[in-house]
Amino acid sequence: MEICIVHYGEIGTKGENRAFFEKLLVKNISRFAKAKRRFGWIEVEYYDGVEEKLRKVPGIRYFGVGYKTELDMSEIKSAVLKSLPEKFETFKISTSRRNKKFPLNSLELNRELGREVVERTGKKVDLENPDVTVWVEIGEKFALVYSKRFEGIGGLPVGCAGKVVSLISGGIDSPVASFLAMKRGCEVVLVHFFNKTLHSENVRRKIVMLAEKLAEYQGSIKLYMIPFEEVQMEIIRIVPPKLRMVVYRRSMMRMANKVAEKENAKAIVTGDNISQVASQTLDNLNVIYSASKLSVLPPLLGFDKEEIVELAKKIGTYQISILPYEDCCSLMVAKHPETRAKKEIVEEFEEFEELENSAVEKGEIIEVHS
Ligand code: ATP
Ligand code: MG
Repeated sequence: MEICIVHYGEIGTKGENRAFFEKLLVKNISRFAKAKRRFGWIEVEYYDGVEEKLRKVPGIRYFGVGYKTELDMSEIKSAVLKSLPEKFETFKISTSRRNKKFPLNSLELNRELGREVVERTGKKVDLENPDVTVWVEIGEKFALVYSKRFEGIGGLPVGCAGKVVSLISGGIDSPVASFLAMKRGCEVVLVHFFNKTLHSENVRRKIVMLAEKLAEYQGSIKLYMIPFEEVQMEIIRIVPPKLRMVVYRRSMMRMANKVAEKENAKAIVTGDNISQVASQTLDNLNVIYSASKLSVLPPLLGFDKEEIVELAKKIGTYQISILPYEDCCSLMVAKHPETRAKKEIVEEFEEFEELENSAVEKGEIIEVHS
């Protein structure tokens, strides 16, 4: 019977935390398949389609689909033969031996198993560019044999780093930023601010679709939809156009901190990257981020737009992000927004605490599943 042989990257190197990380990864995988901790790897039940799910679990570096056998040469040989595909001309055996007590070393195993395949199938060895590679791992208790190998997304299991609140717009960047936070082990809670008086059904559908896509990586995700038209109206009433963008983003920061408090989250994540738009000059980011009590983490800091787009396509959010929608903030954008805002000046206009509190209270919480 085939199984999945799951390997993780960094978590194996984290010393005392190792068991904690491994258990968390097992728990995350268990949402969709039976999983069990082994020595240095995780065994996952195989079923049709499980590959696609494993490919999306943060913390998995790569995995194989194949066989587990006793540490016995004749069993290993028959597993190697079983794991070969129907059609191929050339092959290679690639053995790694974690268990140094096993009598043959990896070179000897490669030769012996290779000879067996040649004898039984008449195919040729090609070490440079084989049609098939059969991986053989000699572990403490079992040998693992597979020719189907898949790359995972790497990173760390979701939850090991704690919780963050991620500000998600309908744009391309913030879903990618949310994904990157998950990839580094953060459990992500999404917050979206919208204007109920604009066509909100479209917006809602789009944000929920983005959340559903992101839930494929996290299992499920909590989404706060916060109606902030009253805050917006007040900003438009009081704040000169040039400064509105910075002021409304500071307001979002304060509301995000309130959500973080409810959720016991430890940081705020945004899709900002440096200098992409007027609100993202270092001067403006300083003023915006200083409205947050918690650290603000922008994972896209060093990415070029093309790199963000590429990643968005890879994780599947791009096609949703480019759907047309009414950006609640476009009505706030001045022709010539301030690029070097000053905190003292901006603060003079900020008297929205009650409106902000009530917006957060009115927020709808949606539990989104993949
Ligand atoms: P994005 O592609 O994510 O919209 P952007 O490059 O267009 O980012 P802005 O629109 O200025 O830049 O937004 C910067 C960041 O502020 C976003 O990445 C997101 O984290 C946050 N943000 C903007 N608008 C909203 C909103 N309506 N609700 C929640 N967060 C928002
Ligand atoms: Mg945007």
